[in-house]
Amino acid sequence: MQCLMRSINIARKAAHLRQIASIAALPDTHQMLQKTCRDFANSELSPNAAKFDREHLYPAQQIKQMGELGLMGVAVPEELGGTGLDYLAYAIAMEEISRGCASAGVIMSVNNSLYLGPLLSFGNDSQKAAFITPYTTGERVGCFALSEPGNGSDAGAASTIATEKGDHFVLNGTKAWITNGFEAEATIVFATTNKQLKHKGISAFIVPKGLKGFTVGKKEDKLGIRGSSTCQLIFEDCEIPKENLLGQTGFGFKIAMQTLDAGRIGIAGQALGIAQASLELAVDYAQKRQAFGKPISKLQSIQQKIADMSLALESARLLTWRAAWLKDSHLSYTKEAAMAKLAASEAATLCAHQCIQVLGGMGYVTDMAAERHYRDARITEIYEGTSEIQRLVIAGSILKEYAS
Ligand SMILES: Cc1cc2nc3c(=O)[nH]c(=O)nc-3n(C[C@H](O)[C@H](O)[C@H](O)COP(=O)(O)OP(=O)(O)OC[C@H]3O[C@@H](n4cnc5c(N)ncnc54)[C@H](O)[C@@H]3O)c2cc1C
Repeated sequence: MQCLMRSINIARKAAHLRQIASIAALPDTHQMLQKTCRDFANSELSPNAAKFDREHLYPAQQIKQMGELGLMGVAVPEELGGTGLDYLAYAIAMEEISRGCASAGVIMSVNNSLYLGPLLSFGNDSQKAAFITPYTTGERVGCFALSEPGNGSDAGAASTIATEKGDHFVLNGTKAWITNGFEAEATIVFATTNKQLKHKGISAFIVPKGLKGFTVGKKEDKLGIRGSSTCQLIFEDCEIPKENLLGQTGFGFKIAMQTLDAGRIGIAGQALGIAQASLELAVDYAQKRQAFGKPISKLQSIQQKIADMSLALESARLLTWRAAWLKDSHLSYTKEAAMAKLAASEAATLCAHQCIQVLGGMGYVTDMAAERHYRDARITEIYEGTSEIQRLVIAGSILKEYAS
């Protein structure tokens, strides 16, 4: 009994120290946001995440609640209906929400950084009023359509065509893998307006749902993040009014790349949430599970896994916060965002893998969340640029820095 009380006290002290270490450097606003998101994730997301996953269920009610908490437009100025916080706040919120449910995390991330982000940076006043404000409440979500069946990493090779005709553009082509595609009320679509100019001939358009010639294809049956939809978007002679051009013609590739730089900070946050959930589950289980007369947390091989998981997680968190801070300071952050996304997604994969190992057989069945974390983690190494592409971005920046 005495021994049990001692280990409970040690666990409490460790949890307290861990909390202090992770929040000590954050401003008050960010600490409050972190706590709000954590409480919400504990009460509304974690208990339902297995059901969303099992039933491929879009968490509509929780997304609305997230809108009420200000999480669907975290970095959007208040005058446009957003919360008016910075990207550090966004990264922190993304981690906490994804710790509860990685599907809710990606829905939030696509709406915040891939949909609202380019509208904020490149939209004119009427576009902002029509396509930003209604999308900050959680009632509506947007999406971002860059990838196609024939090109993902090679985004400049877009074969969707937009032909100028009088007061509109005519859009033809198919976009693939579009997150939120099924629910989205509006999409940022990238299409070629001048094939000869290659990536410099790509333009971006705001395409609302319901336009004639715009249909949504079937939902993909995915390994993970199954509470979020992933669909094809099909355009057949779809007429887009000229006022829906985002930025100028030929600006599309620049808009896409700038958007993805910021988006990678959000996906790094999502990956941190999956890694943190895996670590917490592994530690909790290791302290309770007895083998050979003692908790398995006493075994050095288990302790080494816990050390490796924490190291990967905490170093990735620092990289993520640095990338967000650079963006908030209006400094260059392309390389740092790629580093954050790469480190955090690999940390998520490692932590989820080791979590299953610590849980043994219980890690392999759906009674526990470990196997879901493992499946959810995997996508963070693929979307918004694969890990191979992140390494190319990082190496390209380093080689430039050393050459100058
Ligand atoms: C669940 C899900 C959600 C998604 N959501 C969206 C979304 O909302 N919007 C959107 O536009 N897209 C989305 N995507 C698409 C995603 O961004 C692409 O899948 C990703 O960029 C990789 O492209 P690809 O699948 O065509 O793979 P490919 O580009 O065919 O790559 C295949 C392999 O080759 C490697 N490779 C390719 N080029 C290079 C290179 N130059 N150097 C080294 N290795 C290379 C890749 O790293 C990868 O390992 C989503 C994808 C998934 C699975």
